[in-house]
Amino acid sequence: MDFYILNCSDLNESTLNSLSMELKKEMNVNFKIFNYKFDFSFAFNQIRMQYNADLLLKKLREIFDKRFICIFPHDIYVENMNFIFGLAELNGRGGIVSIFRLKDKNFHERLLKEMKHEIGHIFGLKHCENKCVMNFSNSLYDVDRKPDYFCSHCLNELRNRIGQISLIE
Ligand SMILES: [Zn+2]
Ligand SMILES: [Zn+2]
Repeated sequence: MDFYILNCSDLNESTLNSLSMELKKEMNVNFKIFNYKFDFSFAFNQIRMQYNADLLLKKLREIFDKRFICIFPHDIYVENMNFIFGLAELNGRGGIVSIFRLKDKNFHERLLKEMKHEIGHIFGLKHCENKCVMNFSNSLYDVDRKPDYFCSHCLNELRNRIGQISLIE
């Protein structure tokens, strides 16, 4: 199964390559890196000075028809939240992760965790209370505290789901 990492940020190729290698370790998925430019100005909220993640995700789904996780350079939000690190459709096709708040300390590790987390949602995982990358994170403290791996329960579910989809496609 192909899965696209849509890079809209200025992250360099070696960073993206190493992220995709690390993701591959746990998932039997063929990650492909795409430097992706699209006009996202429509999703900017002038009052909040942030981008609406629901609108971005909806737009990306319209213009890109494969499975994807978008790496977004700016701060994102959804209604009733001050900000979010990422958003994905549960059992859907796409997700988005913002690198804006993940810099600079532990950046690579934080981004890997948030990418895994959103990809987990795309493959049907919900938030998890075990020691697991599917812990909900509301702050950088939460991001740093959670592990960068799936608990055995989530990893099983993830692999089953990917296996099922691979059979169909
Ligand atoms: Zn989540
Ligand atoms: Zn878990």
